[in-house]
Amino acid sequence: MTDAELHCRVCGLLQEEPPWGWDGNTPDFEICDCCGTEFGYEDATSVGVARKRRAWLADPGVWFRPEAKPAGWEPAEQLSHVPAAFRDLPEA
Ligand SMILES: [Zn+2]
Repeated sequence: MTDAELHCRVCGLLQEEPPWGWDGNTPDFEICDCCGTEFGYEDATSVGVARKRRAWLADPGVWFRPEAKPAGWEPAEQLSHVPAAFRDLPEA
């Protein structure tokens, strides 16, 4: 268990619970406040993550739950927390 597993696979936002469960294989089907990904669904494959991230990056200032967006939010800093296996994905 690394802290990276507490971050959204698509946008890197820190989550209160690990999106894919403590065993890394049990998605909780919560929705990411930032990119709106439903864990266990849109982020189930690297192709799905790449597709969702591309859509999110088209307009990353818009949060799924705008009230959760912190002041001074930095999308690049947040993206640096994406779990390693889901960084630098090929174009799908
Ligand atoms: Zn996200």
